[in-house]
Amino acid sequence: MNLPRGYLSYNQIRLYQNCPLKYYLFYVKEIQFPINDKIFLGIVFHAVLEYYFAKKIAGQELEKFQIIDRFSDQFQSMEDENPVMWESAKGKIKDRGIAFTRYFLNEMAPSIEPLMTEKELETTIPELGIKIKGVLDLVEQDFSITDFKTTTAKWSKSRISNSLLQMVIYKYLFEQNFGNVNPDLMYRIIYSKNAVGIRHQEVKIKSSDVSYDKMLKIIGYVAENISNGVFYENTSYMCGFCEYKNICKDYKKNIL
Ligand code: SF4
Repeated sequence: MNLPRGYLSYNQIRLYQNCPLKYYLFYVKEIQFPINDKIFLGIVFHAVLEYYFAKKIAGQELEKFQIIDRFSDQFQSMEDENPVMWESAKGKIKDRGIAFTRYFLNEMAPSIEPLMTEKELETTIPELGIKIKGVLDLVEQDFSITDFKTTTAKWSKSRISNSLLQMVIYKYLFEQNFGNVNPDLMYRIIYSKNAVGIRHQEVKIKSSDVSYDKMLKIIGYVAENISNGVFYENTSYMCGFCEYKNICKDYKKNIL
């Protein structure tokens, strides 16, 4: 299979499913724009979680203010490294991230027993000959797998359903690397539109929703299309939020 990165990840598959042309522009043409502030906040928050969990795994319990300080430092250093497209005031985004971090430390962290954090796993699917990779935010001591999300509102049923593939891939990767331990799967979603009224939602994925057959079909379909250069446009309301909206028409006529 001729894949731009030599492997597929959930993010690649989701991007291809949303718009094959957008996948082409990002992964094949490597045209990149500054990340938006929501994605930036998620990246900084995940980096702070990794720091917190790594310390806890190593037996070090840090004071809450040290983790909050870490968020501020990380926010600054990552902004220096990555151009960000600020849609809201930078100070408001930062305050929201600090509030998320404080909420996590008070309401969520005490009951979490981490075993691994930001664990990168890969495997080659024997039936397809395709390599897949994923990074697991958190594996707990009972082998349960969590993916954290930061967002503005509670996830709807359809949002959960549309995201199932990510956790199925993570379960598959975990079992291919560590054996068939049938880990529990969970999304922990922290949400609020601003720095007050933070809430979180825990979504446990039922084993009846995990289908490796369906996962293999999707991965096989996406990989085959990418290898064959099938990158048609998928216009929808999402085009209004797409960073390629002003240039994608220039590429439409040249590809399948
Ligand atoms: S603007 Fe729409 S059609 Fe064009 S790349 Fe973005 S999502 Fe695809």
